[in-house]
Amino acid sequence: MTKRTLKDLSHHVSQCVECGLAESRTQVVFGSGNPNADYFFIGEGPGAKEDLEGEPFIGRSGKLLSRLIGEELKIDRSQCYIANVVKCRPPNNRNPKSIEISTCKPYLDEQIQLVNPVVIIPLGNFASRLLLNTKEGITNLRGERYSYKQHYLVPTFHPAAALRGNPDALKNMRLDFQLAYSIVSGNLK
Ligand code: SF4
Repeated sequence: MTKRTLKDLSHHVSQCVECGLAESRTQVVFGSGNPNADYFFIGEGPGAKEDLEGEPFIGRSGKLLSRLIGEELKIDRSQCYIANVVKCRPPNNRNPKSIEISTCKPYLDEQIQLVNPVVIIPLGNFASRLLLNTKEGITNLRGERYSYKQHYLVPTFHPAAALRGNPDALKNMRLDFQLAYSIVSGNLK
């Protein structure tokens, strides 16, 4: 059987009603970016703006993410791939539930497999804990290089943490992005 493409998968997921988040979403926010990206970012879930426009990370967090990608990875964000742990907005921006995360995870895994990035960068607790299969928090997890399947994995803070005024978050995000850059540019393989 022919393997489905990212576009096929996106079309399939756009009609998904596998978990309760389908009831309150405006639309599925599948993910966006370069289908052959070296860097694959994973956030938590779509917010209100993303739910309306169908794109991940387009609010204030997205602006900060784009800026850090430009400054630390030396590329435009369109050259990365950006997705979320859950593809539909949790009502009132509540945390996604375990059952919603586990139901949606096969889509994330298939996205990763199809994009086949060098480095995965989970942003914040939800994405980092999911891929590292741990209950440990991002403050302790970040600053290290891990692996997920055949990919490197470099967890870091969610940009929202830096925007909330966590004084170390922005500084540590820069360090983690620099680690990811070193891996992709071949200095740390
Ligand atoms: S969050 Fe994921 S599993 Fe739930 S309805 Fe949306 S696409 Fe389907």
